[in-house]
Amino acid sequence: MKLVHNEIPVEFLRSLPEGMKLVNRHGREFLVVESVVSPTGTPLVTDSVRIHGEPSIRFKARIGDVEGLIFVDAFWGSHAKLFGFLPELGHGDQYVEASVLETGESLMIERTCDVEGCTSTRGIELQLPGGKNRIHVCARLGCPGHKIVLSDLGKPVEETVSGINFFGAGGLEDDWFDQF
Ligand SMILES: [Zn+2]
Repeated sequence: MKLVHNEIPVEFLRSLPEGMKLVNRHGREFLVVESVVSPTGTPLVTDSVRIHGEPSIRFKARIGDVEGLIFVDAFWGSHAKLFGFLPELGHGDQYVEASVLETGESLMIERTCDVEGCTSTRGIELQLPGGKNRIHVCARLGCPGHKIVLSDLGKPVEETVSGINFFGAGGLEDDWFDQF
């Protein structure tokens, strides 16, 4: 897996929301999630597992009947994940039911995915510090759907930033094999 550079809008860089940071890799800047919390403020970024050299976003996940931890790459637009358990990969759509490890608090929201061909109405919400900005991720396993919701910067910046996909379309199989 290779880091592919995408342009980040200047307006966004000028007023980078709290919880997002820029890191330099191979002379280029990448957007990284530095801090996200649950609706009641429990931190979700952990230093115990690093992906691409950065702390990862950790939550508890249930997929079908199996439950465990998932660590998600904090690089914006990456879909790399590490599973602390072995999900049963059945046929058809599978959904992640995300909650906070320490409190059991749900991270699930109703959200219609805007990725073509995806019919998911379930999403995972991560809040950036300050309570104004949010990150929404499609809960369907393997779907690259993700969006940043910015209260101050407006739709065009939101859409450009949301469209950044550093690692292409991604998919569970790609992610899975890239990690080992
Ligand atoms: Zn989706």
